[in-house]
Amino acid sequence: MKERILLIISRKLTSSFFLFLVSILSLSLWQCPNEATAQEFESKELAPKNKETNNLIAQAVSNGGNKTSDYEKERQAYDACQRVNKLLGAGSYSEAAQLAQSGISCDPTAYSGYLHRQLSACLKAQKDFQGAIAELKKAAKLDPTYKNSTYDIALINYESGNLEEAIKGLEEAQKQPGADPILKQEASNLLTQVGAFGYLKLAERALAANNLSAAKKHLTSAARFDPSTYSSTVHGNLAYVLRELGESERAIEEGKKALNFQPNQSNQALPQNQANTVYTIGLAYQDLGNFQEAINWLTRYTQLETNAQNRQKAEVFIAELRDDLGKQKPGLDKKADYLESCMENGVVPSWPAAKMPLKVYIKSGTSQSGYKPIYRDFTIHALDTWCSVCPKLSYKLVDNPQSADISVSFSNSTLGMSENGRTRLKAGITDIKSDKAEILSAKVAVTTINPFDQKPVRDGECATITMHEIGHSLGLDHSTAVSDIMYFGSSCKQTGKPTARDRNTLALIYKDKPIITASLNKTVKPLNITYLPPPAFLPPAPVDTKTLKPPVFLPPPLAKEVQYMKPPLFVPPPLKKELNSAQNNKAEPSLNRAQPAARDKSKLPFFLPPPK
Ligand SMILES: [Zn+2]
Repeated sequence: MKERILLIISRKLTSSFFLFLVSILSLSLWQCPNEATAQEFESKELAPKNKETNNLIAQAVSNGGNKTSDYEKERQAYDACQRVNKLLGAGSYSEAAQLAQSGISCDPTAYSGYLHRQLSACLKAQKDFQGAIAELKKAAKLDPTYKNSTYDIALINYESGNLEEAIKGLEEAQKQPGADPILKQEASNLLTQVGAFGYLKLAERALAANNLSAAKKHLTSAARFDPSTYSSTVHGNLAYVLRELGESERAIEEGKKALNFQPNQSNQALPQNQANTVYTIGLAYQDLGNFQEAINWLTRYTQLETNAQNRQKAEVFIAELRDDLGKQKPGLDKKADYLESCMENGVVPSWPAAKMPLKVYIKSGTSQSGYKPIYRDFTIHALDTWCSVCPKLSYKLVDNPQSADISVSFSNSTLGMSENGRTRLKAGITDIKSDKAEILSAKVAVTTINPFDQKPVRDGECATITMHEIGHSLGLDHSTAVSDIMYFGSSCKQTGKPTARDRNTLALIYKDKPIITASLNKTVKPLNITYLPPPAFLPPAPVDTKTLKPPVFLPPPLAKEVQYMKPPLFVPPPLKKELNSAQNNKAEPSLNRAQPAARDKSKLPFFLPPPK
């Protein structure tokens, strides 16, 4: 088994005696090759799919790093490299991966970096993205000349949908020292598109999960890449999200920016998206109580909207806003209370002290579609809240509607109130019976279905509606200031809780009443709910991003890099057994340049020294 003959084939053949001596000396450095040599490996590996091949691969893997000489390792790694390239080209990824592993088992070799990149390409093709990334990281460690790993990893992240990582990687890749300048430029170009598109898609996911603050974060990140082909969409959605979050001023700004950017022609939803953005701007002006601007933008919306029903709803909304223009009392909004607005013929009706605690009946809404048991909790929370801010009020729940002062019911039928000859749709209505200054009874009705889109009301909306309607049931009338819970309209500026003006007004209404000493139901338990403005118009829609085309780029194929195409300089001595088997085996592997010489016993082999 052990032969101490060194066969050398070099591109530079020299026959100097000195070098010959050196080569003899170097013989002792060579260890005997293992049974699975590169030659054997190559000669039997022509049909890569058979079992024998797999065994050989396994054997090579298990032998790797064991008794194999440095040359053997280089040779094995080199051979693996060449074959993997072929298999990759043929799309035989799992065989290619196995062979790459056999080469990798010899790590570290001059081919290690390339082999790990090849394995990465196999894994990526098999959709093992994490595995592919891990191999590129190993490649970068083993091969200091491989400077494009950050870019290559970014592309895998992009392909696997891990957009955040892809963007981070591209940001690094455009600055990476030593990286290919063309790829750096490519990273920078790609970043503009992938950055905007990637964050836009992340925002789309956040919106689908109703996570507005995450959507805002991603859209703000997407806007960093302005101007891109996605800018109009990015800012359109930012306008929507900001308004939903109650940031109406910024929503207007972003909406106007969206309309100024060149719209993305690849988006099939383009005309509707522009209509949506214009509608959002109109609503944001409405939130701020700027009804005139709201009317202007909503009028523009009616010209863009193609859905006749939605157009008609907007026209009704515009007419209602014209009515609301007349209700505004800008001077009064700055006062500490709105008692004046609650006056009826010079008095404000209130509950007499003798009625305390007020008997409240909450009718079960289980028979009504859209009803949830938590709506009862919202009602109790509203009662607790108002009674806790006004020490003159208290209540207790009763089971009998006949004995109730205040009765609350939930209904899926449409609630409406006549105003200026039109029936205005309402989310809640409170009917107060009073005798001059005394309230006799209050009936509260809360809707379970949004009358504008026929969907169940959202929890946050119901929480705001109950807080507002219970306020009415205790004697409060409408405020004209957008942030008060008793505001006559619906505004993102409302927090769902009574403002100082709401509290001051209630305090003034009950100013002459005695303080309730027995503290009944005055503990406000925390309610984990995000209050939302009550439905008062067709809800806005975000800009559609589903039909947007992603930026097009083709990841570069694994380049056949010149340095990895060169075999190692030295060929190890063949094994006797192997020679015999090779002679029997007529299949001459084309890649093994050393073999023909190794097998021809009639010719004297050249002895050449190893390089320095
Ligand atoms: Zn009201």
